[in-house]
Parts: sequence; structure tokens; C-alpha cells
Amino acid sequence: MVVFRKTDSLARTPLFAVLRRAAALARMARRPGAGPLDELTDRALPFTRRGVLGAGAGLAIAAPKRSMARSDSRVAIIGCGIAGLVVADRLVAAGLRHVTLHEANQRIGGRMLSGRGVVGEGSLVELGGSFINSDHADILALAHRFQLPLEDGTANTLEPTFFADGAARSLTEIAAASQGLLAHLERVKALPKPRQDALSAAGVMDAADVSGWMRRLLDLGLTQEMGLEPDRMSALYLINSFTGRQMGQNGLFGSDQRYQIAGGNDRLPAALASGLSARISLGQRLVALRPEGRAYRAIFAGGQEVVADIIVLALPLTVLRGVELGVPLPPLTRRAIAQTSYGSNAKLFAGVSARPWRARGQSGECLNDLGYQTVWEDHAKPGEGPGALTIFAGGRLGLGFRNGSSLERARAATLSLEPALAGAATGFTGLATRMHWPSNPYVGGSYTCFAPGQYEGFSGAFAPAGRVFFAGEHASETSSGYMNGGAESGRITAEAIQRALG
Ligand SMILES: Cc1cc2nc3c(=O)[nH]c(=O)nc-3n(C[C@H](O)[C@H](O)[C@H](O)COP(=O)(O)OP(=O)(O)OC[C@H]3O[C@@H](n4cnc5c(N)ncnc54)[C@H](O)[C@@H]3O)c2cc1C
Repeated sequence: MVVFRKTDSLARTPLFAVLRRAAALARMARRPGAGPLDELTDRALPFTRRGVLGAGAGLAIAAPKRSMARSDSRVAIIGCGIAGLVVADRLVAAGLRHVTLHEANQRIGGRMLSGRGVVGEGSLVELGGSFINSDHADILALAHRFQLPLEDGTANTLEPTFFADGAARSLTEIAAASQGLLAHLERVKALPKPRQDALSAAGVMDAADVSGWMRRLLDLGLTQEMGLEPDRMSALYLINSFTGRQMGQNGLFGSDQRYQIAGGNDRLPAALASGLSARISLGQRLVALRPEGRAYRAIFAGGQEVVADIIVLALPLTVLRGVELGVPLPPLTRRAIAQTSYGSNAKLFAGVSARPWRARGQSGECLNDLGYQTVWEDHAKPGEGPGALTIFAGGRLGLGFRNGSSLERARAATLSLEPALAGAATGFTGLATRMHWPSNPYVGGSYTCFAPGQYEGFSGAFAPAGRVFFAGEHASETSSGYMNGGAESGRITAEAIQRALG
């Protein structure tokens, strides 16, 4: 079966969503009879606000059900991120008795990890995945099932800041400066998908002659959002972020809602794992997978082994490429495992004693060309009191977040932010920490950022091979790179296993 990857049209960071709104605004302004840009901007600014417990989109995903006719098959799931946990949850609920999970780390959750109190008493930051989109149905369904309340990250009336070339840039200015690019993107979009994919995002912006501060904002926005510089990413990320059905339908006024799980996103993998704890072995790092008659033998560092009829590989490709895979796999699968590009996003966290920008109408979200790409307040509290800044970067800057001490880095970052977010440096409490995913041995990157040609070229690469199944954000055809991609791929993999056993 040929599966066509649905290219992402959603935003991972709040700032990127606003950039997308600016693009939608520019599209609206081109329609006959549209008012001037600044009038449209005024209408565009308010988000709709909803406080929810498991938003509507998630309710479409059914909870797992008992259905398994043959429940004696042995299933070994490698990796206890959201993807592996969802596979196990569904298979156990379906009646499979011999499901085991094998995790290299000493904790479950993978890239869903919350930091509590790490930069000040009561502070809460997300070390990995932060934002859940309103149509991330699998994650929302899980949050609903485990009764984890959601915070609406957009539930404030304050504005994000875009700062480039020495000045703050308004949504109206950004929309006006986007016009040429958007017209060009519509032309590129008419090309067959593989030809769009063969281009880089930078190449498309060059051809559209995007330059000056607008180009810098787009370069920074894409790098922090997708994880690599625009010359290293498929143009489809750019094309689908700023054009497309979703934007056409929802335009400015149905803009993405953003959620975080109250108390920390990692409450979700913890809730899943609580029903599976007897099946989970920590500290088991897969090093080899070999055939064993009609079954498979998984070998872990240190010599432990498990033999299973079904194997689920739910670990990042960056790590999987170091595993000896002695089982038959199609050439496309091997190529995708070896070559899929990952972003190099990292996060730096700084405690602040006050947030004076809020009194000036700034939310604290700031995309800037001052040296540190992006900043925002995770799990933002109302008011102007103490808080925590998340400083987030991809590409070469993200890689470099490893150098120096967190304190030096955070001091330099808050100082550099002053022109755009006055009060960041004076409010810095001296409490800082970081999470450098590119050097994390269990991940070795942030999330998939397909290089030119890979988005379409590797579509379908993670179909089951014999009784080896693949799960993880990289395997998601609709939301690769997202927590939802992990959860969705886990659900689809569990369904495929049930069919295979049915
Ligand atoms: C900095 C950053 C920011 C992000 N922001 C967002 C966001 O705002 N919104 C969003 O939706 N998503 C975001 N994501 C992406 C999201 O967190 C991931 O896509 C998702 O959590 C991946 O889940 P997974 O189960 O596929 O993989 P993982 O969570 O990586 O799970 C894989 C598991 O396999 C284990 N493992 C690794 N090697 C082995 C081995 N050899 N043997 C056994 N086990 C092994 C790992 O320890 C891990 O537990 C972000 C990610 C990062 C890093």
C-alpha cells in the first residue's frame, strides 16, 4: 500500500502560529473587497478562548477495547516514550497477555518530560514537547481519558513580540512583507508534491526574493520550529505552513488553540505507564535484533535478551541506526532509518523574579534576531510576578546550547533579549538549567526535520516488515515531529498488530 504523508500544517510553537496568522492575513488582504491590512489585523488578533478538559477533537479517538482472539502472542515493545506506551496500553486492553516494554533509560516518557521547580520554587517548564494543538486528536483523547486538565496557552490578551533589524515588527508589517512570498508559494504548490519536496525552504525563499528583516524572521521562525536551518529542510514545511486547506478554511479566526497539560505534560506518559508498570523493564538498551525461527530475539546491552513473536521498534531513528538490525527490512526502510534528518533543538531555562513586559502588553513570547531565536513563558501564570523563561533554538544555535554553563548561557540570553523584552536581564534570578536533546544518548536530536526529498521520499518507509512494527513520531503520516505523532503512530501500530493476529 502506498501511503502519502500528509504534510504538517500545524505549528509547534506559539510564535510560529502567529507567523502563520500573518500569512493568512496577507492572503485575505489579496481577496477582492478586502479592507486595508491594519483593519484586518485588528479583527484578526483575538484568539477564541476555551478552557477545557480534553478538547473536542480528541473525543473522536476511541479508547482501547478488548477484542483479541489470540492473546498468547509475545509482543516486545522497545522504547517507553508516548508511542511505545500507547501500543502497550491498547494491546493489553485488547486482551494480549504477553506484552513487555523495554526502555534504555531509567525513566519512561522519552521526549515528554516536565521540569518542576528547576528554575525557582513552583516553576514548571517543559524540557521536551510543550504545546498540544487543538486538532492533535490522539493526545487530547488520552488527556481526556486520564482526566488530565488542559491549560489554554493562548488564554491571555497579551501580544507576542517579533523583533528584527533593531525594531519590533507588527502583524500588519509582517503580513505586508509576506505578500510576494505567498504569491510565489501558490505557484510552487502547483508543482507535483515530489518536486516541491525536492526543493529546500531556503531555495524557495531565495526564488521569491524574500530578504531583509522579513527573511531573517522567517529563517529564525523555521529554524526554531522545525529544528534545522531552512537550507537543510524540505520546502514542504514552508509551503504547508503558509498556504493550504487548513489556512483557507480556518484563516485567521479559527487559529490554532494551544494546550499544555496542567501540572506538566509528562503526567500523560506517567498515567499510561501506571497501568503497565509490571511489564516495563528499565535500563534495557536494545543493541541487536535477530530472527529466531518464526520469532525474534532482541538483545540488550549487558546481555539480557527477550524472544518475541512481534517486535515494536518505538525508539528514535537516530538511535535505531546504531542497533544491529539482522532482520529482513525493505531497502526503503533501511534508507529511511539511516538518513532521516533530525532537528537539533535545545532548551535553556531562566528563572525571573518579575515579568514587567506583561504590563506593557507583551506576553513574553518573542522571536528575535538578537542571538537566541525564541523565548516564551511555559505554563504561563497570570500577573507580572516571578516566572520562568524558556529559551528555545534549533539548527546550529541549538547545537551550541551545550557549550558553557547554563548560568553563563542564560545570563547572555536574557541580556541579549533586553531590546525586545525589557526586564529579562534585570529580572534574571541566576537560576538556570538546560536540556540539550541533540547530545542526549536516548534521542540524539530533537524531532524529525525531513531534508529536501525525504518528506515524500520516505513516506511509507515504516510499514511493518514481517512482524517487526515501527512506532514513534517519525512514523506518523500526519503529525511527525509532534507528541501527537508519537501517540497516533502507537495507536495505528496497535491496530495493525491486532489485524495481523486477528
Ligand atoms: C525540544 C523539543 C521540543 C518539542 N516541542 C514539541 C511541542 O511543542 N509539541 C509537540 O507536539 N511535540 C514537541 N516535541 C516532539 C515530541 O516531544 C516528540 O515528537 C514525542 O514526544 C516523541 O515520542 P516518541 O514516543 O516517538 O519518542 P521518544 O519520546 O523519544 O521515546 C522513545 C523512547 O525510546 C527509548 N530508547 C532510546 N534508545 C533505546 C534503546 N536502544 N533501547 C530501548 N529504548 C530506547 C528512549 O529512552 C525513549 O524513552 C518536542 C521535542 C523536543 C525534543
